[in-house]
Amino acid sequence: MRAASDEKLNVRGLSAYYLTEKGPVKAVDSVNFALSQSESLGIVGESACGKSTLGSALMRSLQPPGKIVGGSILLDGEDISKLPGREFDKKIRWKKVAMVFQGAMNALDPVYTVGSQLRELLKEHEFEGDFGSKILDSLKQVGLAPGVASRYPHELSGGMKQRVVIAMALLLEPEILIADEPTTALDVLVQSQIIALLKRLHKEKGVTVVLISHDLALVSQIADKIGIMYAGQLVEVGSTQDIYTKPKHPYTQALIAAVPRLHSNEKKIRFIPGSPPSLLDPPAGCRFYSRCPHAMTVCQRDPPEFPSDTGYVRCWLYDPTLKST
Ligand code: SF4
Repeated sequence: MRAASDEKLNVRGLSAYYLTEKGPVKAVDSVNFALSQSESLGIVGESACGKSTLGSALMRSLQPPGKIVGGSILLDGEDISKLPGREFDKKIRWKKVAMVFQGAMNALDPVYTVGSQLRELLKEHEFEGDFGSKILDSLKQVGLAPGVASRYPHELSGGMKQRVVIAMALLLEPEILIADEPTTALDVLVQSQIIALLKRLHKEKGVTVVLISHDLALVSQIADKIGIMYAGQLVEVGSTQDIYTKPKHPYTQALIAAVPRLHSNEKKIRFIPGSPPSLLDPPAGCRFYSRCPHAMTVCQRDPPEFPSDTGYVRCWLYDPTLKST
């Protein structure tokens, strides 16, 4: 275990709901994890499990009816979830925590060159240095030639646009970069280039990367730790090696078993029967209960969470005191 002083980010009991007319949709519920500056985290889960909401909550970018309703986000020991909006914008957003939003490369303004869009961002954040060299530096950092600054988004390939978006996020030198599905809609070759870029930024520049994806294999290429998200909760957090080689939670086990293997003799692709519960009215106990082959009585009643070697697991199977149910 790392000493608390080594912690860059510590998320405790974070809950973010969508307050709809039908009631609160509990998209992120009691999420816990901690990261040091030198670590990177992968958040993996199927569609609509709450992983993008978690990213937006960390960035304080949830739009109504989305709202952080509980818990804390400690950045260097300061709870940034409680900072007044203006103070968060001034001190934290883009300067300490930046995010590459899902589909952001398609949101580049088509009528402005890359350089003017980067310049606008610097102006907005009252950057005091030399705009030109800052822009060229940030393009270089993501492997783009200086000439890209004078080009329009439609003149760039998908991979180049994604690099521009990452350059924008890195412009004010944040310590934490949250990347939500940064390789969606890119071909396999470009995907691996973007992952290599994030890896390099993490290793060489010391940026703490939080990578959100549905693709466990992709995430494992960069993450030191992985959090498996299911129905709004992180059901297992551990080192990438532990998650891959000895997954504990039945959902993690099923997720890994469902990945098709190139050299396997299995004729059928495995899948997880059933569907996730409604987040409007999730079960009181384990949220995987209705799909779990090991479900016990206690699972339906109480929500579990137990420490593991490199993180924790939300499953009653790992309760050291549970003798019978
Ligand atoms: Fe299955 Fe129970 Fe563990 Fe949930 S707590 S994953 S139902 S064994």
